Amino acid sequence: MIRSALLGSVALAALMACTTVATTQATVDQYVDDARRIAGEDLKFLMPVCNPQPAVRAAPSAAMDESLAKLINQPAPEPGQAFDNLYYVGAAWVSAWVLKTSEGLILIDALNNKKEAADLIEGGMRRLGLDPAQIRYVLVTHGHGDHYGGAQMIAERYRARVVASEIDWQMMETGLEFDSKMWDRPPQRDIAVKDGDTLTLGDTTVRFLITPGHTLGTISPVFDVRDGSRVHKAMVWGGTSFNFGRDMRRLDGYIAQTERMRELSARWGIDVPLSNHPGFDGTVAKLKARKDAAGGANPFVSGQPVVDRAMRVLNTCARAQKSRFLLTAQAGHSELFAQANLVDGHAQHNEDEHIQAGMLALSRSEAAQAVAFPFSVLASAHTLDPHKSR
Ligand SMILES: [Zn+2]
Repeated sequence: MIRSALLGSVALAALMACTTVATTQATVDQYVDDARRIAGEDLKFLMPVCNPQPAVRAAPSAAMDESLAKLINQPAPEPGQAFDNLYYVGAAWVSAWVLKTSEGLILIDALNNKKEAADLIEGGMRRLGLDPAQIRYVLVTHGHGDHYGGAQMIAERYRARVVASEIDWQMMETGLEFDSKMWDRPPQRDIAVKDGDTLTLGDTTVRFLITPGHTLGTISPVFDVRDGSRVHKAMVWGGTSFNFGRDMRRLDGYIAQTERMRELSARWGIDVPLSNHPGFDGTVAKLKARKDAAGGANPFVSGQPVVDRAMRVLNTCARAQKSRFLLTAQAGHSELFAQANLVDGHAQHNEDEHIQAGMLALSRSEAAQAVAFPFSVLASAHTLDPHKSR
């Protein structure tokens, strides 16, 4: 047995060394079929991630403003409660979560602009009996305007500290990947977190995982949620779609990070998969189901195997998109890919600083996986007094 397995793997290695396996449309189709099979019915809402993506990132334009306006102007869902300590005050398109601790509130994402933050975050919190003045931190999961637009207003009004990753702070300060007049300006630089950092407020600790791909410094926070006497572990996947154009290394980053999250979710027992867009986790239907069946099983508790499948769906869709780009390269459509798939599937393109910084973060986070558990703790200045001078 052992021997034949060994021979088999030697033969396979020799085969792989001697040939370049061409990417074909069948490769792409196989990935999409696999993703659909893994998603099944319950994770169907992730399948749009598998749709073909354009090779070039959308530039600011009137058309983009218009489509954002349409998304923003959809009627907002009712604010609601997912767990004893987790509330939804987001819009129809983009999420805002409030994590309640014994020493104040942590807001996860701040919607598109001041107006939305006032109407939905402040308004929603009041309707749920939460006091916006208790917001101590605003976590910006990644540096796109639909997540940071209302952050500065909340920070100023309630003297809350704003948390983002170093790489996305740099991006927000020096050159936005996306911009639109529908978004208010990025918040002023405040707390920068690294992969594995934690933030403790009262009885609650949030772990920040840097999961690059969607942006180079996307944060996926992990924290406990409570439902009566039961404690569950939640993870908000901080950036989902591949809207960065033909950037193979970002897709590689995404593939690596979804694999890492599968491993971490198994190790930590993450059983509540959440998103920062309600369309990617069924938030609205789940809020309603929880409200209607108060006391019954919490619909947000999907179980660890579902978290694993969700990561596999995203991973498989990233592989499908990578194959699509390799396919165009093979067909000779781009000088950028002259040698790409002959080496290791990495595009040999000119990388800007952000790409380099992101890949550095990725290699650091890969190293962190082996050595940095349990996680390091943020400097006490970040945890003891949120009202400390900024
Ligand atoms: Zn985004």
